[in-house]
Amino acid sequence: MVTRADIGVLGGSGFYSLLDDAEEIELDTPYGPPSDVVTVGHIGSRSVAFIPRHGRDHRFPPHRIPYRANLWALRKLGVRQVLAPSAVGSLRAEYGPGAMVIPDQLVDRTSGRVQTYYDADRAIHVSFADPYCPSGRSAAVETARKGGWETVDGGTLVVIEGPRFSTRAESQWYAGNGWSIVGMTGFPEAILARELALCYTSLSLVTDHDAGVEAGQGVTHDEVLEFFAQNVTRMRTLVSDTVQALPDKRTCPCVSALDGFSLELP
Ligand SMILES: [Zn+2]
Repeated sequence: MVTRADIGVLGGSGFYSLLDDAEEIELDTPYGPPSDVVTVGHIGSRSVAFIPRHGRDHRFPPHRIPYRANLWALRKLGVRQVLAPSAVGSLRAEYGPGAMVIPDQLVDRTSGRVQTYYDADRAIHVSFADPYCPSGRSAAVETARKGGWETVDGGTLVVIEGPRFSTRAESQWYAGNGWSIVGMTGFPEAILARELALCYTSLSLVTDHDAGVEAGQGVTHDEVLEFFAQNVTRMRTLVSDTVQALPDKRTCPCVSALDGFSLELP
């Protein structure tokens, strides 16, 4: 395969205009096709592959996203570092809409999603104590701060099954455990990336407070729409700048996630 990319972006369809000299590639994987054709192009000097995780027409709800195919397709193109922008709810009164959280921990509250590539022949147990890439995290935190974002360095992302939102009691329970934000797509993306020895960094944009958090007056529908429109452009800039801030050579522990296993990776 001639077309290759170093960095992968899994995000909403607002990211199409990220890439210069973009080319569309139709890919298949042992896990079926990814969410959509993969767009490969450049941001500055970096080669980037983009997959809209819900599909271009938003046909995949969070519990139906072909997560294994998406990560496999990226790795097959040569990708080793993945940025995962997404929208989340906040469990903390102190940060609300517009905050950029770069989580360092994750709690999996999904159910029924296939969360491994290694489900036949033998058991492969990869370490997942620290689910996110430390190099990717520091590049994202530094870039967000420079870009003027209210940036939260660290915190725990709770990934729920969806598509429903949390009940008030669930939300209060998550908050009571000290967890920070709630989303629906961060898992199994993170573990599948780790199982392929990819670096994975979540850029979580807070769009609202979760059900159990009492804060402020709440926002109107118009404010939410306006907020979203403003932030698509800001998010695009953040992802683009973070791509360029990622290290050229990987020195993080993600590289050796599969050391000791003899596996055939794409
Ligand atoms: Zn890494």
